[in-house]
Amino acid sequence: MNMLISSMAISSAMVRRQSAHTRAALDETRMKELVAFTARSLETDKPVPFGSSIVNTRSRERLVQSLNAVAREFDPSSHAEVRAIRRATKKLKNVSLAGYTLYTTCEPCPMCMSTALWAGLDRVVYGATIEDASRHCRQIHIDAREVSARSDMRCVVDGPLLREECYALFTHPNMLKAFRSWSTRKRTSTKA
Ligand SMILES: [Zn+2]
Repeated sequence: MNMLISSMAISSAMVRRQSAHTRAALDETRMKELVAFTARSLETDKPVPFGSSIVNTRSRERLVQSLNAVAREFDPSSHAEVRAIRRATKKLKNVSLAGYTLYTTCEPCPMCMSTALWAGLDRVVYGATIEDASRHCRQIHIDAREVSARSDMRCVVDGPLLREECYALFTHPNMLKAFRSWSTRKRTSTKA
C-alpha cells in the first residue's frame, strides 16, 4: 500500500514537472510570437518596443495582441498592456479576464500591473525589465511583483522571460532613433 501511495506521489510529481515544462515551452512560444509582432512596428514611422498579448490560460488560444500607442493616440495611458486588456474585455463583453494570461515584452509599469489586477488576470509573463526600459525612457520604479503583492487580488507574475530577445527591441537602430523624439526619453538613447 505504501509503495502504491509513494509510486502515485512520484507519478503526480512527474506530471507536475512535465506540465511545468510544457508551460515554460508554451510561454516561450507565446513570447517569441509577441516579439515578432512587436518587431514589425520597428519598420513603421512610430516604432515601439512594447507589445502585449492576452491568451486563454488553459487552451493557450490567443485572444488579442496590442502595441503601445501613446504617440499614435496622444494618450499617455495607451500602454500595450492597458490596450490589450481593454480590447480583451470588450471582445468578451466581460470586465473579468480570469482564466487569461497576459504576455508583455516589458515588465508592466504600476498603471498596467494595476489594470491587470483589476481585470483579474491569472498571470502576467514579462520579457525585459523596468530597469532595462529605464535605460531608454523614464519609468516608475516599482516592480510588477510588488504591485501584485500589495493588492487583494491573486495574479502570478513571471519573468523575465526571453529578456535578451525582448530587450533587443529597445536597442534596434530604428528604435534608438525613435526614442530621441519621445517626451519620456533618457539621455542614453541619444548616443546611438
Ligand atoms: Zn504601463
